[in-house]
Amino acid sequence: MYVARIVKQVFQFTKSLLFNYECILCRESSDKSLCQHCEESLSNESIVYKRRSIIINEQGVNIYSFNHYHDHTKKLLGMFKYEKNHLAGEALCYYFAATFKRQSTLEDIDMILPVPSHRLRYLVRGFNQADILANSIAHNSNSTLFLNTISKYKYTKAQAQSDFTTRQNQPMNTFRQKSPLKANHLLIVDDVITTGATIKAIISMLQADGNNQINKISVLTLCRV
Ligand SMILES: [Zn+2]
Repeated sequence: MYVARIVKQVFQFTKSLLFNYECILCRESSDKSLCQHCEESLSNESIVYKRRSIIINEQGVNIYSFNHYHDHTKKLLGMFKYEKNHLAGEALCYYFAATFKRQSTLEDIDMILPVPSHRLRYLVRGFNQADILANSIAHNSNSTLFLNTISKYKYTKAQAQSDFTTRQNQPMNTFRQKSPLKANHLLIVDDVITTGATIKAIISMLQADGNNQINKISVLTLCRV
């Protein structure tokens, strides 16, 4: 019995070294990255689906967001972006895709375009969170993911570190398109939307290029400030 208990303890210790046995948010013991309580809270946050419409050069664009930038969503996004916690990223992608699937007005999207990050930020962070979120949508739809079709060539401060006026002014003339796009319904994906200036800059750029053929544009972000 004693030997069996020791073997079991060694086995559990080894497993605890190899796998995450606590919730990444509340640190309560859990066999998944999020405990049931945090999972339900995050899921409940996504039930209220925020939506607003803006007009850009006479074209109506619907903007959808998974949630406000607060609580579990904010904490997980911070862990994902700044601490490179892939479990936090996986949890966000799972609920982001689940929310997307509930939105029938996005069923007909055929092209997904993540908002690019500047090459310098990409090198520092090692990834662009919008690419990863967009990829989770691509896996749950009949659409094509276009990475690197547009680039951000002007370095701007992280959104969280800039004030409202700076955020409004900085995105103009910061993006370039590398190749023309043809889409019936294009979905632009980003992690956070604040003033909407980044989105407006990208859509204005797409509209200005006569080689693009895009019938409809929608925007989906993980959260809105
Ligand atoms: Zn928890």
